[in-house]
Amino acid sequence: MPLDASWAESWIRLSAQAVAEHREELTALDTAIGDGDHGTNLDRGLRAAVTALQDAGELPTPGAVLKRAATVLISTVGGAAGPLIGTAFLRASREADAPVLDASGTARMVVAACEGVLARGHAEVGDKTMVDAWTAAARAAQEAVTRVGQSADAPAVVLEAAAGAAAAGAAATEPMRARRGRASFLGERSRGHRDPGAESTSLILAAAARSARQACEVRG
Ligand code: ADP
Ligand code: MG
Repeated sequence: MPLDASWAESWIRLSAQAVAEHREELTALDTAIGDGDHGTNLDRGLRAAVTALQDAGELPTPGAVLKRAATVLISTVGGAAGPLIGTAFLRASREADAPVLDASGTARMVVAACEGVLARGHAEVGDKTMVDAWTAAARAAQEAVTRVGQSADAPAVVLEAAAGAAAAGAAATEPMRARRGRASFLGERSRGHRDPGAESTSLILAAAARSARQACEVRG
């Protein structure tokens, strides 16, 4: 089932739900190596995005939905993560400009989101940031496209691969020493804690995959 605007709307809604459910956990991660605001910031931004999408009514493309969400995220999340995650959605929106996305369009969207985070934050893999989750996701999505073929659930399979890799990428940040953002101020003491932005990225990509799988079940 190709991904349409209602998939994108459901992605944002499920992301908001997941972040609300894990808000305390994200806050605890950011308390350990930052200032403890990541869970609340993202929760506020995603709630605002859901409301803005409800107010906007039906939008024609997944890109239009993601662009609307990006604008709200950039203006309401704040902190370091707001502009980064907002840019991810903004770049994703540009790749999602057609009425529906097939598997390769889906992978291009994930890659574009990752490139947005890289361009905005200048972090590299191994710096213990959300880049570790986004980069793993983008690679996995590209790799998945080469083997999914034309099955009806191909976009869902691509997003499931991306989400699985993002989860592994987030877990891999635990032993790292932070080299970007607030956590880098802790130096060696940042080791032993998972990066909050990598963890929220993993939640957001898992929501994208769930939304795609649900679209297959409902319509396929
Ligand atoms: P702040 O650090 O301003 O309080 P948040 O707590 O909302 O912002 O977000 C912190 C997260 O932002 C970190 O866990 C990390 O993943 C991400 N981050 C910080 N700086 C960068 C950067 N330069 N590039 C990519 N991600 C970054
Ligand atoms: Mg913080």
